[in-house]
Amino acid sequence: MTVLAVRAEEARSSSGRGRRRHLSPPLRHQPPVIPAWSVSPAEPPARPATSLLCSYRCLLPPMDLVGVASPEPGPAAAWGPSKCPWATPQNTISCSLADVMSEQLAKELQLEEEAATFPEVVVTEGPFITGENIDTSSDLMLAQMLQMEFDREYDAQLRREEKKFNGDSKVSISFENYRKVHPYEDSDSSEDEVDWQDTRDDPYRPAKPVPTPKKGFIGKGKDITTKHDEVVCGRKNTARMENFAPGFQVGDGIGMDLKLSNHVFNALKQHAYSEERRSARLHEKKEHSTAEKAVDPKTRLLMYKMVNSGMLETITGCISTGKESVVFHAYGGSMEDEKEDSKVIPTECAIKVFKTTLNEFKNRDKYIKDDFRFKDRFSKLNPRKIIRMWAEKEMHNLTRMQKAGIPCPTVVLLKKHILVMSFIGHDQVPAPKLKEVKLSGEEMKDAYYQTLHLMQQLYNECTLVHADLSEYNMLWHTGKVWLIDVSQSVEPTHPHGLEFLFRDCRNVSQFFQKGGVKEALNERDLFNAVSGLNISADNEADFLAEIEALEKMNEDHVQKNGRKAASFLKDDGGPPVLYDE
Ligand code: ADP
Ligand code: MN
Repeated sequence: MTVLAVRAEEARSSSGRGRRRHLSPPLRHQPPVIPAWSVSPAEPPARPATSLLCSYRCLLPPMDLVGVASPEPGPAAAWGPSKCPWATPQNTISCSLADVMSEQLAKELQLEEEAATFPEVVVTEGPFITGENIDTSSDLMLAQMLQMEFDREYDAQLRREEKKFNGDSKVSISFENYRKVHPYEDSDSSEDEVDWQDTRDDPYRPAKPVPTPKKGFIGKGKDITTKHDEVVCGRKNTARMENFAPGFQVGDGIGMDLKLSNHVFNALKQHAYSEERRSARLHEKKEHSTAEKAVDPKTRLLMYKMVNSGMLETITGCISTGKESVVFHAYGGSMEDEKEDSKVIPTECAIKVFKTTLNEFKNRDKYIKDDFRFKDRFSKLNPRKIIRMWAEKEMHNLTRMQKAGIPCPTVVLLKKHILVMSFIGHDQVPAPKLKEVKLSGEEMKDAYYQTLHLMQQLYNECTLVHADLSEYNMLWHTGKVWLIDVSQSVEPTHPHGLEFLFRDCRNVSQFFQKGGVKEALNERDLFNAVSGLNISADNEADFLAEIEALEKMNEDHVQKNGRKAASFLKDDGGPPVLYDE
């Protein structure tokens, strides 16, 4: 072994391996230990190939002989500080032989293991074309590698633009759908489930496998294990298998100390993934046919997580299946997370799940499309997100109503298209709708005045029009009228807001008049009483025409001055919308 060969070996090991190979342990100021036999520059006698350690011992001593790490001023003194244009290094740093040996050995072992465990190169991150991987034999592969590089760069640029675009805004638009690279993990299922904060540690989860430190190996001397160690890798794979789809039976691999090879693990992962999708498809079909238990697996998982986190005690059953939503009853648990300011969960909760089957929502577009609060977001969202927006809208509207003191469910939590709120009712029995309950004449009159007051509060204090108000969305509970189902509620300045209000008034008026409340105003008077507007037309057609004219005027005003400035309220300094003739 010549000195040159040794240097070449050094140079290779220190530069040529790419990032992953950077294994240097901390350097120490220590004179190298020179074994007795190292004084002879001649080739040491041939050694059995079994001991790698030995062969490295033969390599290392000459390194010191050529002065690579000599701490003595010896050869350097000859140049002298003044003569040398680059100045003399004050402290030549050397590392201990043991460290160098460990590093070299680790590299060698790692290479061997890699060759054995990964016959084909699997690159997950970092540059695809490294010093080592230059396989120019396949044009297709080169092209693909380049394409991937480009895609990554494109995505990085996209992320920067997304960040710039959103700035500090609380509402942000995701550019995710424009990305080029969609790694398997990024697909759908994990999309934004990571933001689930309520899941506490699962006590039954197996202990995490010990991670391999950055330097790439653990242990010393002969006991070194690299991150590619077959056994370690196998155990890790088995543990990761537990994270497959929840419905996927993976058995007790950890208990058996099962070691899965990467190949098998990847195949299983793929299988679990396609199984999950297949069963979701099957389930969806079934769901359409029976229209029963109508929540998809992902929703069930989210609900399950709520129970698992302790936020809900149990979900007892389904209260209602509508076209657009399914409502469940649940017993509340507690949110005793230290980070949360321990929110009080109502003893009984209602979980409203907005249906993610899309077609039912098509005819609701007009409620949200023209609602200025959501307008900017609407056009840019995919249908699934639009459904989440319904849930979000209901939450905001309920919160406004709560503030105004209107009897309505209190919002507990919004998670995607699932809204958890307090339950109106008792012992799992929901309060009856006004439609269903048998009220005495007195109670009916009382209910009417309550409703009138609720509508006025809603309009004046919450700046909202229910837009689906009827005896079906009013519950009778503890002698009070409760308003529910406000996902479609809009502000009065919505381009059709007044028409919605008129419809609400007609429903309410008809219901109470038919119910024998003599005091009940007719729909036009009720409309004026709620809105404070003074529309004088005495038949429905004219009345409606005036409403539409008002809406039109308001819309023109909005075009000029912006939505926020608009208001139908009389003494608000708003536009001159009083329509006296
Ligand atoms: P939909 O849009 O399907 O009409 P709703 O919000 O009106 O949705 O809920 C449907 C039914 O579920 C209601 O009629 C009511 O009986 C019941 N429900 C909804 N929310 C609650 C709640 N917070 N407490 C008790 N029952 C509720
Ligand atoms: Mn309803």
